[in-house]
Amino acid sequence: MSTYGVLPSVDEVLRQPGVAELLERHPRPVVVAAVRECLAEYRARITGGLPGPASRESLRGAVVAAVRERVAAMVRSNLRPVINATGVVLHTNLGRAVLGAAAAEAVVRMGGYCNLELNLETGKRGSRYAAVEELLKTLTGAEAALVVNNNAAAVLLALSTLARGREVIVSRGQLIEIGGSFRMPDVMAGSGARLVEVGTTNKTYPEDYRRAVGERTALLLWVHTSNYRIVGFTREVRVEELVALGREYGLPVMCDLGSGSLVDLRPWGLPHEPTVQEVVAAGADVVTFSGDKLLGGPQAGIIVGRAEYVGRMKGNPLTRAVRIDKLTLAALEATLREYRDHREEVHTRLPVLRMLTVPASELARRAGAFAARLGEILRGRAEVHTQPGFSRVGGGALPTAELPTTLVAVAPLNVTVEELQVRLRKGDPPVVARVREGWLLLDLRTVPEDREPLLEQALGRALA
Ligand SMILES: *Cc1c(COP(=O)(O)O)cnc(C)c1O
Repeated sequence: MSTYGVLPSVDEVLRQPGVAELLERHPRPVVVAAVRECLAEYRARITGGLPGPASRESLRGAVVAAVRERVAAMVRSNLRPVINATGVVLHTNLGRAVLGAAAAEAVVRMGGYCNLELNLETGKRGSRYAAVEELLKTLTGAEAALVVNNNAAAVLLALSTLARGREVIVSRGQLIEIGGSFRMPDVMAGSGARLVEVGTTNKTYPEDYRRAVGERTALLLWVHTSNYRIVGFTREVRVEELVALGREYGLPVMCDLGSGSLVDLRPWGLPHEPTVQEVVAAGADVVTFSGDKLLGGPQAGIIVGRAEYVGRMKGNPLTRAVRIDKLTLAALEATLREYRDHREEVHTRLPVLRMLTVPASELARRAGAFAARLGEILRGRAEVHTQPGFSRVGGGALPTAELPTTLVAVAPLNVTVEELQVRLRKGDPPVVARVREGWLLLDLRTVPEDREPLLEQALGRALA
């Protein structure tokens, strides 16, 4: 097998039953392209001197199999739903927050025409922010609200509007980096504001801000160290203290909250996270936070605060560059309505809150039942048991939170655990899971109960 002559022609491959059948289900150009690509690959292999299949028939069989695989990959969308069995609730690589049912439905409904910028009462042009402004004001107690593409954009817009060409004072203990290269000093430089650092990494006092205030000061900034904690010998200036200083010098105070929780999660055993209402009540003039962290909505940056400052931001040309789209707005409105209209059950209605507050006993029950079923399915192919462990909040929120869970641990008998992990990731639907010390660990906290059968089947196929 060393000449091109042995390779079947495009037409010959298209006539093979395994390929002809594809033509009934998929557009012809897609199938033909797949055949050409596969043949080109085989030709390259043969010219490269690689050993080919033993016979003409087996070569044809191999090409047909390759074409089928390639067509399947071509018709599959690039963005695909994934089963997150890692137990990391806000998994940045897997899309961070999971939308609630109402939000997902709103996205589909607003895909068509909608009154995005039309006031249906007056027939005149309306504001796209109107859809969420009142909701945000009611929920946070702030005077005004504005939403943009993400929180990084919210911070950029706020700083650019309030402090371009002037100075912003911030504690050295709050010069954070958020995953994906959001670094507070860099965002500040991008906004045209000059950063004035005060205090030290672990201790900052009101006097440190006082000494730094000058003629060029535009803003006092407080940043929530959402993804890390400084513990031990520490002193942070509280929002209330910074607000008092701001009042004294006639300077606005801005809080970048990051996670932006609207409910206190302490009753469920989670650490205290300052809520948006708390910092608004403390007197912060501008507050920024994400839509897709603890809020549990779509990716968005939310700005609430005094009407005067928010109004100036709306007039900044940069607002257009970071503006929110209608699908996000639809999902955000639906998410905020959950908080306003279902306050008491919001932790069961929004998936992010549900996953964070599910009782450990329920996770133990689910893991036990799942492990029993999986043990049956994988009999002779893997060892399966349950073990205690911890899930994580992820997404740069509540870094010290320990979420006790029960893990389903799988040790395959005939392949390595790393191989099993790869097979699961490449499967359909893809499954992402942790590996530790020879065991694949499945955390059902982040797997909706109705997807458990899919996860079982995926494991069955991966070890078939
Ligand atoms: C997450 C975070 C950001 C960035 O928010 P995105 O929505 O990811 O753009 C900014 N500041 C803080 C404090 C954060 O935690």
